[in-house]
Amino acid sequence: MQRRATHSNHVGDPRWKQLWKCKVPPKVRVFWWRILHDYIPSRANLHRRHIDPLGTCDTCGAREETTFHALVECTYARLFWAKLYEITGVKLPTLIPDTWALALLDNNFCGEKEQTIILCGMWSLWCSRNDGKHGKAPIDAVAAVIWALDVCYYLISVQENAVGSTTVSAPQRWQRPPANSVKINIDGAFVDDESSGAIGAVARDDEGEFLLATTRRLPAVASALAAEAEALRAGVQLIHTVTNGPVIMETDSLELLGLWNNRASQRSVFAPIFDDIQGLASSFSSFCVVHVKRTANGAAHACAQAAYSIPFEVWANTPPSFLLQVLQDDCNHVNE
Ligand SMILES: [Zn+2]
Repeated sequence: MQRRATHSNHVGDPRWKQLWKCKVPPKVRVFWWRILHDYIPSRANLHRRHIDPLGTCDTCGAREETTFHALVECTYARLFWAKLYEITGVKLPTLIPDTWALALLDNNFCGEKEQTIILCGMWSLWCSRNDGKHGKAPIDAVAAVIWALDVCYYLISVQENAVGSTTVSAPQRWQRPPANSVKINIDGAFVDDESSGAIGAVARDDEGEFLLATTRRLPAVASALAAEAEALRAGVQLIHTVTNGPVIMETDSLELLGLWNNRASQRSVFAPIFDDIQGLASSFSSFCVVHVKRTANGAAHACAQAAYSIPFEVWANTPPSFLLQVLQDDCNHVNE
């Protein structure tokens, strides 16, 4: 409703056209439309409208909490962008107060993928600042970054193959693990409207033989990335009692892999899950988590999808019928 109303009112405005092209969710777009019109209830704006007596930033004590200050200059904003850079490699470009918002909408200034991350990041940053002000437990900057990333990766996965050029090196087809190793493919599914999800995991040996699979519905899960993290844990739990040899986990979630690989330097919201995984994995002679393309992760994907009709199940030695085709397809390509 809001989107349509805004659109029809400003259909001739070139800024709207530019904003419309950005790959962000509707909420983020509306937020940005407010930024462009300076409708954001920053304290400086509220002060100008005689609602706030001071207009100062109560996060860092700066004289004026403008929108630019809140999203770019403030100590909290700086921490947010530093964390975002650590996790994603995306750097907030140098921005100046008069032109920053339009600059970020310009693809000549800011690449498409960076733009999605930064625009969503600013919304997440704004929301997390306000939660702190309104007496809710303030979200820490890292959690806000992870949320922003989650939205971005969700958008990217919806567009399929569109953006992530970093996935080029990952194999297109499932490959057998090295001799004596076990490979577990994992996948998480997420339904945004219901905040529910599902996980799937499939373990196979070095001959490509089926060992184990599991499917589980997650009645409450915060995000797609949280579902992926749960899938990783479930996969490790699944294989833990069966082997103490080398174990390879495969995920098609690059952001999960990024968080896992950086778990020692950054404590993410998934730290308790990662601690669990690490504890279980210490019994394997070797353990690693690697990235594969979605086309190589079909078996785990099928298991996660099955959770919508089978809330919880573990299969050992004999695969469920819905997996037979994908297991066979995977093996037919092992010698490519
Ligand atoms: Zn400040």
